Amino acid sequence: MTAQIALENVQKHYGTFHALKDIDLAIPKGQFVALVGPSGCGKSTLLRSIAGLESISGGVLKIDGAVVNDLPPRKRDLAMVFQSYALYPHMSVQDNLTYALRLKRVPKAERAKQAEKVAAIIGLEDLLDRKPRELSGGQRQRVAMGRAIIREPKAFLFDEPLSNLDAALRVRMRKEVRALHDRIGATSVYVTHDQIEAMTMADHVVVLQAGVIEQQGAPMELYDRPANRFVAGFIGSPAMNFVPGVFAEDGTVRLEMPGAPEITVETPGRSGQAVIVGMRPEHLAIGEAAGSTIRAEIDAVEQTGSSCYLFTAGDPEVLITTDGTTAIKAGDRIELSIAPGQVHLFDPESGLALR
Ligand code: ATP
Repeated sequence: MTAQIALENVQKHYGTFHALKDIDLAIPKGQFVALVGPSGCGKSTLLRSIAGLESISGGVLKIDGAVVNDLPPRKRDLAMVFQSYALYPHMSVQDNLTYALRLKRVPKAERAKQAEKVAAIIGLEDLLDRKPRELSGGQRQRVAMGRAIIREPKAFLFDEPLSNLDAALRVRMRKEVRALHDRIGATSVYVTHDQIEAMTMADHVVVLQAGVIEQQGAPMELYDRPANRFVAGFIGSPAMNFVPGVFAEDGTVRLEMPGAPEITVETPGRSGQAVIVGMRPEHLAIGEAAGSTIRAEIDAVEQTGSSCYLFTAGDPEVLITTDGTTAIKAGDRIELSIAPGQVHLFDPESGLALR
């Protein structure tokens, strides 16, 4: 069983504060959706509204076509997975897994059977007798997921489930959670402030800011065609460089940075019109090439072994990333180029992408 979830013009007010404004979102059956945005953007409020833990102030929330605005959480048939795991410390893994079944008075033998089945799905078959304190963070997170799975909900609602784990484990677990979703096939709504998590795990990413959906779409769609400056700066790591510029007559843009370089763009504007130019660090190539050439002095170089971060001197500072190692050092003068198709242009006033 898996659910289709639809939000139409959903709003949530706390007194005069509007935490969610006109949210329209249609989640098809079986989709993995990530809600992503900076702290306070309303992503948890949105998830909790779907769960029924918050009542919405306006609009319509539907599960499988039926309006559920006033349906209590337990009747929605959805399971939440939290970052805090919310495991019972005095109970074994098996008892934690089957707690919901016990409340439903499922007989003991059946509960044990279900626990084994779920433990096999989450890879904890050998740990059923352990207490939560005897588990690693990743194992605890799996128990929390197992507890949701055993209820066979119509959808999983994840609230930053990996944020308590260390970086390496997070990378492993995001693959595990996604694989679990694919095996079970239930709709998943996943809240995170980590855009990498959203990009790597989800079929559909919803970017929120201040209670508004700034853009939604497939991960690479958001990366390739951000609708506005906020999404452009939020999706992608390290973040996109933004440099003010002015359109010239010949379809180029003169950048307001040291050396006043001109770059060729795909979408020409009116001569003299101000524009914000967005260039991803990974799209700036070192060396002259067809398209555009920017001369820059390097202020600092950071090498991680697998990649390099080069920061230009002057204002605005521009970051360039390259694979591998580099011989370039602080004080060097280099030439940079960028393909016209990789230059993003934004209206300075509205922040909207010019297309
Ligand atoms: P974070 O990543 O920090 O958890 P978030 O995007 O999940 O942030 P929410 O928890 O959804 O943000 O909160 C959205 C906004 O609503 C915030 O500005 C928060 O202060 C406000 N808010 C949340 N709950 C309440 C409440 N009970 N009363 C008043 N304001 C609230």
